[in-house]
Amino acid sequence: MTAACRCASSTVFQGVAAEDYARSHLTHVKTNDDTWRSLFVCRETGTYWRESFPTSEAHGGGPPVLEILSDEAARAEFGSDIVAR
Ligand SMILES: [Zn+2]
Repeated sequence: MTAACRCASSTVFQGVAAEDYARSHLTHVKTNDDTWRSLFVCRETGTYWRESFPTSEAHGGGPPVLEILSDEAARAEFGSDIVAR
């Protein structure tokens, strides 16, 4: 079973918390190889989350940020073929 769902009470996780939440609770949908951004989805609520590395120019890539994306934003960034829920 996955970790407790916090998709309704949180909108952003950063650093280790972002990695932990994505790996323990969310399902990976796809990764954009150009931007290094990944789309995840919560199987319980259908919430889309985007993992990005806003400080990726920093040495080592910088910490990840995990943010909720609207359905429209998810399709705009990752394509209209993302998983139906
Ligand atoms: Zn959730």
